[in-house]
Amino acid sequence: MGHHTRRDTVLFPWLMFGAAFVLGLAVAACKQRIDASAPPPKPAGDTSAGAPGAKPQPPSQPTQAISVPVPVQVPTQPTSTPAQDTPTPGNTHGLPVVTEESIREIASPSPNKSARTTSIKRIVLHNTESTLASALATLRSPAGANRVSAHILVGRDGALHRIVPDADKAWHATVANDDGLGLEIEAGKFGRGMTPLQEATVIAVVRRWMRLHKVTAQNITMHRLAAPGTTDCATFIWPEGNDKAFFNWRRDRFGS
Ligand SMILES: [Zn+2]
Repeated sequence: MGHHTRRDTVLFPWLMFGAAFVLGLAVAACKQRIDASAPPPKPAGDTSAGAPGAKPQPPSQPTQAISVPVPVQVPTQPTSTPAQDTPTPGNTHGLPVVTEESIREIASPSPNKSARTTSIKRIVLHNTESTLASALATLRSPAGANRVSAHILVGRDGALHRIVPDADKAWHATVANDDGLGLEIEAGKFGRGMTPLQEATVIAVVRRWMRLHKVTAQNITMHRLAAPGTTDCATFIWPEGNDKAFFNWRRDRFGS
């Protein structure tokens, strides 16, 4: 008995513990089943009335059906500043940049020249009437009774041909040869006026001459003004009968 008694005494706490454990398992299992019977959490924004346990249905309407239009925020762009038209010396008329310093001369010497006996006072502008190649041949030809030349010839591509040194007299404008500098500009029926690059070169050449030889703007002239009654040159740049076109060009480019 003593053995039984001791055995019962030892066994009782274990029985109580086991009963409590089994009860706990049953409660846990029950709660688990309750949780399983609850409807699954609905995805956010799902307004459909799904039955408990049913799979979540994809939204039957496109998202825009419930979306609220939002004003598009346009990022504020910094106000762009238009490029400033920075005047360049010798280039104030939208012409290509050709400065006195950047002038590149092509040596095209001519035998048609003589010694100066008077100082330089004026600049005489001409049009060639013929193409560059033809003009180069004429201005450098030692043949014929009417040999002609000029100091510089500027092609429509802006290339500058040095034909006669400033220090010598060129033969381009009869009575104006002695105190003049002759500038031939490639223009004719094939191409009237000046190309932008050609005009930029002409302006740079004239500016350099004005500086080197102290020629005033009023003494920039053209062939038919320097030798009246002998020619219509340079009518393919400044048409004959409209000398005002030349004077306006001279005033705009050289200030007088
Ligand atoms: Zn001429």
